Formats: sequence, structure tokens, C-alpha cells
Amino acid sequence: MDATLRVGILTVSDRCSAGEAKDVSGDTLSAYIQSHWPQGKVTVRDCIPDEKAQITNVLMDWTDQERLDIIFTTGGTGFSPRDVTPEATKAVLDKAAPGLVVAMIQGSMQSTPMAMLSRPVCGVRNRTLIINLPGSVKGCVENFMIVEKQLKHAVDLLRDAKGNIENVHSQIQKPLKLKTKVNAINVADRARRSPFETIQVEIAQNIVITQCGDEYLTETRTLRNALGFVIAEDVDAKDPLPPFPASIKDGYAVKVGPQLKEGSLLNVTGDSTAGESPEKCQVDTNFSVRISTGAPVPSGADAVIQIEDTELVEKTEDGNDEKVIRILKTPIVKQDIRAIGSDIQSGERVLQKGTRLGPTELGILATVGITQFKVFKKPIVALISTGNELQSPNDAILIKGKIRDSNKTTLASLMAQEGFQTKDVGIAKDSPQELLDTLCAGFSVADIIVCTGGVSMGEKDYLKRVLKTDLDADIHFGSLLMKPGKPTTFATCMYQERKKYIFALPGNPVSATVSSYLFVVPACRKLSGWSHPFHPKIKVQAEKQLKVDPTRPEYHRVTVSWSTSCGIPVAQSTGNQISSRLLSFNRADALLMLPQGSDSKKVVESGEFLEAILLSA
Ligand code: AMP
Ligand code: MG
Repeated sequence: MDATLRVGILTVSDRCSAGEAKDVSGDTLSAYIQSHWPQGKVTVRDCIPDEKAQITNVLMDWTDQERLDIIFTTGGTGFSPRDVTPEATKAVLDKAAPGLVVAMIQGSMQSTPMAMLSRPVCGVRNRTLIINLPGSVKGCVENFMIVEKQLKHAVDLLRDAKGNIENVHSQIQKPLKLKTKVNAINVADRARRSPFETIQVEIAQNIVITQCGDEYLTETRTLRNALGFVIAEDVDAKDPLPPFPASIKDGYAVKVGPQLKEGSLLNVTGDSTAGESPEKCQVDTNFSVRISTGAPVPSGADAVIQIEDTELVEKTEDGNDEKVIRILKTPIVKQDIRAIGSDIQSGERVLQKGTRLGPTELGILATVGITQFKVFKKPIVALISTGNELQSPNDAILIKGKIRDSNKTTLASLMAQEGFQTKDVGIAKDSPQELLDTLCAGFSVADIIVCTGGVSMGEKDYLKRVLKTDLDADIHFGSLLMKPGKPTTFATCMYQERKKYIFALPGNPVSATVSSYLFVVPACRKLSGWSHPFHPKIKVQAEKQLKVDPTRPEYHRVTVSWSTSCGIPVAQSTGNQISSRLLSFNRADALLMLPQGSDSKKVVESGEFLEAILLSA
């Protein structure tokens, strides 16, 4: 059966069909389908006025004669009297497809609440799916994108294409069950050196960031569930702040003039407190209005004199109010008044796309009344531990020859600290089939898969081969010039049409943790829209002399401390740095970057200046 989906686009618009406007929506949708949707081919187009009879005629003709797979109408779905596309569509349908309608309205509501005023109808006539799209260019293409992924399957169902349908159904049910092609090799024949070129950490970090830079997904969030997300749109203020001239102090609103000097007496004729209308009072040269911080400055007033610079001269007869005050300091014009828009001007850009939303950024959004906005979606991270020796830390008894899996706990906690959701996909044994099954299970629930163990030169280290042979993954690097973490591996592959990012980290707990800070966290941040995803580096002084490794730069765990007596932070080693000793991370808040040694450089000296990566920032 022909795999191409034959598509018709019917533009419904009085103005376009009369030649008074260009059919931009039809053109844009057609161009979008051509460039982004390889399965679809636009084979017929038309542009007709908002006339019910004409619309039904074309729809019937296209479904009965042209035998199209899908017809998209654009236009005529709104509330104006001439909008009749949904009614015309309904009249020709054999079956309604309300799920598509719900999906489009729900999806569009994330862009604009105006979407609730759209009235699309979707359904089937003969073997053709008809979908009403809005008439605006943006709405038309956005709604197409919302349903795009499901259209192929819908058409397969309409065509009764059994093979394709079963395929999709099985993919929905469970992760792919692939059979590994990786054999346990004859140990005597195994490679004795990594086939991967050893590359520098900075180069590897660039590769990760580049790979993570081409697919940003967005979602709509609200003020109270967006902390830590990166905003995916520019935000402009709709109105100024303050929206009226506001007092900065508690005191008296006055009109400055030659008569108003230190020692002058002034009548108090009214009051303006926060929340009151700016029109409540008037001020002129001989009198003042009592005013509170944040209250509107009455018209006529051009300065506020703070209460501390006044004294009461006379009360009202009932003794409850102020009648006359003396001013103790000559005021100047504009004193203690926030002009309209002095904090935020109307139309001012208050947040730029790409800004991370901390408490104050969310406060800014609240200030300008933006309660729903687009953010970049955060990736979900699947965690896999690999190794025949691993037991769950929850097991009551430690079996001989086994150790407890600590990596999963460390990595899950690190991800949680960074604000990323994780899925525990279990512990995989050192068998190619089990590794493959567990990776596929990870792919089906997450975007990033972090596994630890099984990437070195051991006879049971199958992971890289499974990635390459079974999953056709691109292994971007598999050997790094760093200590610890040399076998750190990064790969990407496509799984059910989505790009997956795989970090296969060495099993040693310290190596896995260091590599997570250097690669995994930045990757998660990058996919979440951060423009500077790496932990900051600072200059520090080594507290004591430290040996350097002759073959690799080292990321030495240190505690950094500051004192007012010494301007530069001091880095204190956490002790024995062997990569199995997770205790070397105890109290560590930075990774001191020790250079690779040489004949002339065997140590860094006490007091020597080095860079350190701050882990908590
Ligand atoms: P591998 O990278 O698989 O060669 O493992 C290197 C070392 O890390 C071995 O001593 C493993 O027992 C240990 N190891 C591997 N995975 C874990 C884990 N999840 N938790 C704690 N130690 C591990
Ligand atoms: Mg292992």
C-alpha cells in the first residue's frame, strides 16, 4: 500500500476567495507539510467563501472522488455570523472524532485562552479524515502540529493497514523487545586497549551541549509550579508600575512653591492611603493631604514631606485629627514620589526568553499579571545500575561477593537537588540481553538515560557494544582525559522517533559522581533551556601540597573556605582520592582542577592558584 498520505487543504474565507487577501494560512500549512511531514503530500487545494453549501460540496467531492486521506480546512471556525465551516463539515461526516477536537483545544489553550472560542469539528467521511483548523496562520499550523503525530496511525486505521496498526499498538503497550546481537566474546580475543580516542573534558562537554541543543520542548506553567524552569517567551509589561504617582514615604503631599519653607504652617485637609483612588483629593499651595507609603499622590501635589520632617501644631476640634502642621525642612519638587512607570514602564521587557525563574523572576511575572506562560520542558532521567555484584541497599543481608548499589541513590539525589525528575529502571545484570532490555525500558519512560558500570575494559563490560550493535547509537565519546571517570561514555540514538541521550558512566561511585557533575547535570540543564549549563569555576589556593597525576588532569574533591583575612578561597583536600572511595565526596563542595603532571611538574604547591568547579551552584 502507498505509504504517502494524500492531503487536501481547503481554505474557507470570503476575503481570500474574493482576492482581497492572500491565503497565507493555506500557503503556510502547505509549505509546513512539505518541509516537516515527509509522509504527507498536498495533492489538492482550494479557496472558497464562507458558504455552507459550497463547503459541503467540496468536502463531498474530495472525499468521494479524490479519495484523499486527510482534508484540512482552515478558517470559518469562529463566532462571527459567517463562520459555518464546522456546521458544513458536520453535515458530511459519517463518524465524529471528538478526541482530535479535545486535543487541539487543550493544546491551543496552552498558547491562548482565546482557543476556548474555537469550534473545530473533526471526523471521518468514507475513508477520509476531515479536520477543521483555525483560520489564523499561527492557529492553523499550531493545531496541525498538535495532531500531526497521530495522523499516520489514524490513516492506517482508516485504510485498515493491519501490519502498521499492530506495530504501533505494540509500541504503545510496552518498550520494544529487541533481541541482542552482542555475543559474549572469547575473553582471550578481547581488545586490550579502548578503541575510543581519548579526548579532553572540555571537548567532550562541548559535544554534549551541542547534542542537547537541537530539541527544545515547551509547556505551559503557572506562577506556583514554575520555580527553576526557564521561560520560553519574552514577557512585556502590559501596564506601568506604579500605575499612578505613588508616595515613597508616610507624610504629607504638598505643592512646592516659594511660600513653602522650613517653618511654614500648612493645613491638613484630607488623606490618601494605599489602595484609594488617585482622584480622591486635591492639593494646592495652602494645604496638604496626609499620605501613606504606596498611596496615590493627589493631583496638584508635586512632593511628599516625610512625617519625620513635620510637627503637629493644631488638632481638629474633636481632637481626633490633624488640622495644622509645621514643616521642618523645605521640600523640593518630586521629592519622595515614584512617577508613573518609574519601576516598570508600560510595554517594557521585564523578562527575556531564556531567563531561569527564581523567586524574584516569578514575582516579576506576578507584578505584571502574567500568570500562565511557556517554559522549556525539563527532561526526565532514567537511572540504571549495572553489575552482577549489585544488591539493593534495602536488602537485609549482604550476600557474599556482592556490594550495595550506591550509585542509584547518589544520582537520584543529585538529580532531585537539581530539580530533575528521575525514574528508577532497576539494576541490570552484566548480560547483553538484560542491558538491552533495561535500556529500552529506560527509553520508554525518559529522555536521558544514565547508567553506571560496564563501560570499562572488563570481560563483562558489554554496554558500549549493546549501544552500538543493538541500538545503532552514535557513541560520541568513550574515553576521556580525566581522573576519575576515564571510560565515561556519551551516546545518542533514536527510539520510537525520539532522540535519547545516554550517559554510560563508570561504576566506581566517585567516577560516576564526578562525571555526573561534569556532563549529566549540564546536559539536563541544557535541555531545560539553560544557556550557561556548567557549574561555575572560581580561583582558589591549594591549602597543602598535592601530588598530580602524570597521565591525566584530575578533579580532586575539596572543601572550599573563605576568611576575611585572606581574599582568595582556600581549597582543602578531602583526603584519599581513590575512585571507589565515596567518602572523598564527604563535605566536598568543589572539584579542584589539578593539571596533568610532567617531568618538571610533579606536585601543586601549597598556596598555588588553581581553578575549582563549585558544585553547589
Ligand atoms: P565497572 O565500571 O562496572 O567496572 O565497576 C567499577 C567498580 O564500581 C566496581 O568495583 C563495581 O563493583 C563498582 N560499582 C559498579 N556499580 C556500582 C554501583 N551502582 N554502586 C556502587 N558501586 C558500584
Ligand atoms: Mg561492572
